[in-house]
Amino acid sequence: MADRAWDYSSAWDEAVRQIAAEISEQEFLMWFRNMSYSGAEQSRLFLNVPSSFYKDQVQQRYLHLIEEKLHELLGNPIQIDFRIEKPRASASEAEAADQAKAEAPRRRPVRKAASPQLNDKYAFDSFVVGENNSFAANAAYAIAKNPGTTYNPCLIYGGVGLGKTHLIQAIGNAAYGDFPDMKVVYVTAETFTNEFIISIKERTNHIFKRKYRSVDLLLIDDIHMFQGKAQTQEELFYTFEALYNANKQMVFTCDRPVSELRELTERLRSRFERGLNVDLQPPNYETRVAILRKKIEEQHVVIPEGVVELICRNITTNVRDLEAALTKLVAYANLVNRNMNLEIAQAQLRDVFANPRQKSVSIEIVQRVVAEYFGLSQTDLKGKKRTKAIAFPRQLAMYLAREMTEYSTTELGIEFGGRDHTTIMYGCQKIENRIKTDSTLEPIISGLKRSIREYGANA
Ligand code: ADP
Ligand code: MG
Repeated sequence: MADRAWDYSSAWDEAVRQIAAEISEQEFLMWFRNMSYSGAEQSRLFLNVPSSFYKDQVQQRYLHLIEEKLHELLGNPIQIDFRIEKPRASASEAEAADQAKAEAPRRRPVRKAASPQLNDKYAFDSFVVGENNSFAANAAYAIAKNPGTTYNPCLIYGGVGLGKTHLIQAIGNAAYGDFPDMKVVYVTAETFTNEFIISIKERTNHIFKRKYRSVDLLLIDDIHMFQGKAQTQEELFYTFEALYNANKQMVFTCDRPVSELRELTERLRSRFERGLNVDLQPPNYETRVAILRKKIEEQHVVIPEGVVELICRNITTNVRDLEAALTKLVAYANLVNRNMNLEIAQAQLRDVFANPRQKSVSIEIVQRVVAEYFGLSQTDLKGKKRTKAIAFPRQLAMYLAREMTEYSTTELGIEFGGRDHTTIMYGCQKIENRIKTDSTLEPIISGLKRSIREYGANA
């Protein structure tokens, strides 16, 4: 198999070196970094590529150039055969992991396994810094390099899909990598709450306390979820005090400024506000383009510049939606095995662009529009009265809020007069059932949605 007569690997390396000098760096990184020599036979050379899409693109763009180079270097014509070697998660990540595994024993004692709570795709390297987020990104970076000394605590706040989870986890990942002995814990407020409740039920509260009060770096995502949970707040308060007094770093994220949180004890609010509070704003057009290009590069796909511009012009408020648009296009292109162009993109993304979630709809606007439509006050809508004249509009408002905003049922419950999340689920279900049997409801809902969107756009 490893017949030395057919080893063209050094010719391949040389061809790649020459090609690198002739094409742009971006093109080179995009197309040659994930192509690798995998063997040869007489006048054939095998290359591994990660997907059939990739293969088509490389064939179209570079096959001629590659064959020409090899012909020159080897003195006879060489046929290239591509082999598709599906990357597991992502080729480079998997390779890096394999390599790290191979090198670990030599470099230093085997490191602890990757943190189970952190997703390593959330790294500083993959976070694009623009004017909308540079303050938060720099603070996060400083904290990761120097936990416990610079800004403690730090609270990052901003709307849905603007990078809160990415940044807080990037801090965890970086610190975890740089300080092997540091105990890093990342949790969402929801998980923290659930663990706390279970610890009470199972009488293991001392274990819970010990766990959270012994960490060196505590990262809690989405602290708005603590609203209305008095007992968990109390527990968190004592955790905070213990860690703060021991100079342990804490970082929190929240979907709004702390001052706008409701049903939060004053002492906890003041703790969150201590230290540094930084916000994430929606990215401007240039930053959106930079983020999308980065995602395109990470996924090793080809998307024409015009399509990038189309997406970034239409999706303006939320990075998660930018990514979702890209994912949709890539899936489509792979499925139909076609190159992406503007026309396809426009057709495929029509729904995404029309999605009302694009416009930031608040729960308050939903309530106001529904209350006005039914001649009620917003207080009625959030109140306890259960007459039919109020119960139906209330459920409709819950349904619309669920449809048109990004809030969870728990958060909606809080905004609907401190109700439980199951009440919201029940309300939505009632409306869904009624839509199926009552054909007059559909036009009412469409009309309300339109008003809510208009309100939202002008708010
Ligand atoms: P949030 O927690 O604020 O709702 P996320 O951190 O989950 O938002 O971000 C949503 C998606 O957008 C993630 O996939 C994240 O990687 C990506 N993202 C957000 N901001 C950036 C950025 N500045 N650079 C690169 N990716 C970003
Ligand atoms: Mg998040």
